[in-house]
Amino acid sequence: MSSSAIDVATPEAIARYEPVIGLEVHVQLATATKIFCGCPTGFGAPPNTNVCPVCLGLPGALPVLSREAVELAIKGGLALNCHIRPKSRFARKNYFYPDLPKGYQISQYDEPVAEHGYVDIVVDGVARRIGVTRVHMEDDAGKSIHDGFKDSDRYSYVDLNRCGTPLIEIVSDPDMRSSGEAYAYLTELKQVLQFVEVSTCDMEKGHLRCDANVSVRLHGAEKFGTKAEVKNLNSFRFLKQALDYEISRQVALLEGGGRVVQETRLYNPDLGETFTMRSKEDAHDYRYFPEPDLVPLRVGEKWLAQVRAAMPELPARKRTRFIEEYGLRAYDAEVLTATRPASEYYETVARVSGDPKTAANWVMGDLMALLKAEGKEIAASPVNPENLGELVKLIAKDEISGKLAKEIFPKMFSSGESAGVVMEREGLKQISDTDELDRVIAEVIANNPKQVEQYRGGKATVINFLVGQAMRATRGQANVMVVTELLKRNLGTGEIC
Ligand code: ADP
Ligand code: ZN
Ligand code: MG
Repeated sequence: MSSSAIDVATPEAIARYEPVIGLEVHVQLATATKIFCGCPTGFGAPPNTNVCPVCLGLPGALPVLSREAVELAIKGGLALNCHIRPKSRFARKNYFYPDLPKGYQISQYDEPVAEHGYVDIVVDGVARRIGVTRVHMEDDAGKSIHDGFKDSDRYSYVDLNRCGTPLIEIVSDPDMRSSGEAYAYLTELKQVLQFVEVSTCDMEKGHLRCDANVSVRLHGAEKFGTKAEVKNLNSFRFLKQALDYEISRQVALLEGGGRVVQETRLYNPDLGETFTMRSKEDAHDYRYFPEPDLVPLRVGEKWLAQVRAAMPELPARKRTRFIEEYGLRAYDAEVLTATRPASEYYETVARVSGDPKTAANWVMGDLMALLKAEGKEIAASPVNPENLGELVKLIAKDEISGKLAKEIFPKMFSSGESAGVVMEREGLKQISDTDELDRVIAEVIANNPKQVEQYRGGKATVINFLVGQAMRATRGQANVMVVTELLKRNLGTGEIC
């Protein structure tokens, strides 16, 4: 039964209610093989080629837990500030579906690998901590593909390649209070998991999938309202749209004297509406029981310490460190830690140049602009961080002007060459030879008698005009400070303006 043309609530009505949101996010672990067998997890293989008796669930086949998958799950748990349970257990979650040949998923139920974590978000300048209830491991199901439109020409296909792909499910506490907070939470979650390389989180390949639980209650009410779950939101935009629609739908229902029923819904992006998929099943419908083919998972102190030691610095800590160590503004630190490749690129430029602030300006400015224009990722930048570091160092040591650097950089970008090579080839050397500069300055003084007189008459700012003339005469290849000083000396006053 699909419910369309439901009244949406007025903004005034919506304002009387507080949304309560909890997300369940499935993330594909970045292993090369499946969780309980050695089949490859690669995307795009011909249907039903990456399968074996284990992931097909053939009778008698036994699962063997992948150590790599467990380590990634632990990493994910640690990255989300969770407690890692020394002992966790797999459980069968039974249901029937054509793309689930075993007839059950191997998941975790009351003893998940990680629990009690949190994710910090900032929305409109307000910091909030969103609880992570649990992180549990499970295997993915296959895919059903429906094709054809007319009854006479309608087929459904099953591709079992995805069966047994390792996932973690991350369940949040019902802590979010707006669609914006849910968006920010998912953004942060994705960033952190990519950072620690637990998952690529590539949404187009289904490596990150989100189900949103949402209810509304009157502001000030203590009890949560009845929630609806919107399944399979496969983009950030759809998550926000679906939540906003769902909040409005529930408010309209309640305001109209109706009540929200607990159910599973789907979002139709074309209509911008959610609709009923099925009534919500309860845990007992799945007849969970401990997986008899696997022993409990034990994560000892030593193993946990090893995994912990292999964790990179997390983005939140990196942001703080960039601000403290390099004196960056909060916004710059945010941009430069958005991805692990960007943060690593920046740190190399900062280190090589010895000037972290100028390094930040160049990475965020000139580099990112050219990368964007060419649709390139920073990891594929034609200018490597060492070379950009050398360029920034030349600026910092005043060996070239910022203006000259801006001429050199695009040439480095198109050729992949170092600053030195580009300057050599293009004859773009900074003129620090004072004889040559003396000649240029004599010329500027001779050609601009009016300004020279103004300057000598006490109008100190005219020096900027004269410096500009000298820089133009040298095609920007002179050192501004040297030029300014020489001009002042030649004009007969040592005043600093
Ligand atoms: P279920 O048993 O229906 O799966 P859970 O308690 O496991 O419910 O919670 C599933 C998700 O729904 C969690 O992310 C949780 O935070 C969220 N949730 C629970 N109750 C509510 C509620 N009343 N409103 C919104 N979200 C909720
Ligand atoms: Zn297999
Ligand atoms: Mg649940």
